[in-house]
Amino acid sequence: MTLSVVIPVFNEEGNLPELLRRTLTACRGIGCPFELILVDDGSRDSSPHLLESAAAVEAEVVAVLLNRNYGQHAAVIAGMAQSAGRVVVTLDADLQNPPEEIPRLFAEMAGGVDVVGTVRQHRQDSLFRRAASAFVNRMVQKSTGVMMHDYGCMLRAYRRPIVDAVLQCSERSTFIPILANSFAATTREIEVAHHCREHGDSKYSVLKLVALQFDLLTSMSTFPLRMLSLLGIVISVLGIGFGTLLGILRLCYGPEWGEGGVFTLFAVLFVFIGFQFMGMGLLGEYLGRVYHDVRGRPRYFVEKTLGRGIFPPSDDSREKFSS
Ligand code: UDP
Ligand code: MG
Repeated sequence: MTLSVVIPVFNEEGNLPELLRRTLTACRGIGCPFELILVDDGSRDSSPHLLESAAAVEAEVVAVLLNRNYGQHAAVIAGMAQSAGRVVVTLDADLQNPPEEIPRLFAEMAGGVDVVGTVRQHRQDSLFRRAASAFVNRMVQKSTGVMMHDYGCMLRAYRRPIVDAVLQCSERSTFIPILANSFAATTREIEVAHHCREHGDSKYSVLKLVALQFDLLTSMSTFPLRMLSLLGIVISVLGIGFGTLLGILRLCYGPEWGEGGVFTLFAVLFVFIGFQFMGMGLLGEYLGRVYHDVRGRPRYFVEKTLGRGIFPPSDDSREKFSS
């Protein structure tokens, strides 16, 4: 089995020498052919030069330099597109996930699993980041039905067919762990260590994190659009219920319950607001379908085709049959 390790790099000059040394040692320990693909995501420090010289010295190192910053997931996709290994492992450049875990991931893959995810033990991030990811993980589990506990951790291993499937998706904003899981038949999770960042700061500002959450939300489902219809139905039903209640009270207890028609107006208004939401939800349903089609994700992947059939495989014969 061959291994490709893909690492996105954005202003990581402080971490690169140690990253290269430790990752190369870990991969050599496995004893199978491997390549180390480092994608520079438009760094403004000396990272591109460090990568260039590493690629010149080490035979296994491939440096891919992007002309500007496109974001972590775009960089990983660029690296996957260059990779040739039967197994592809992704890893962050900041050494928060130790490269020494790569052999364990690789060993798990030998069992024939499509994706191996990782769960960070004793996670070294701020409380806010941890709370945010706990919430996101739960939502993803609900909507994709794939059970994984830690989507934030990029230390993951993917089998070649899964990587090819991901590469065939032409959408621009994506979240690779979720996208890959949507094609995976078998997944497994292992626990890995997690450390503090030693050099440099997190490359994600609060704004970038918010943008990433939206990428994540929209990449997995159009469920939020459907929520609009549900909200509309709830508001309408409440409005109708309130109106009916007012009518009954007015009939049973006299005109003071009609009181200038203010509450009646509210009840009617609720019903109309509800209808508006339902209308937006309906628009959303169409929009969702357009969105699905525009992304053009492959519908399915054939794992194997057995038997050659009785028709000769030439194109001419196929035309004859279809006309
Ligand atoms: N990264 C990147 N492009 C970006 C932001 C980040 O390639 O625009 C890389 C970064 O160099 C690191 C990985 O993505 O290798 C994860 O970034 P970081 O450690 O800052 O994220 P955090 O650990 O805070 O989630
Ligand atoms: Mg990090």
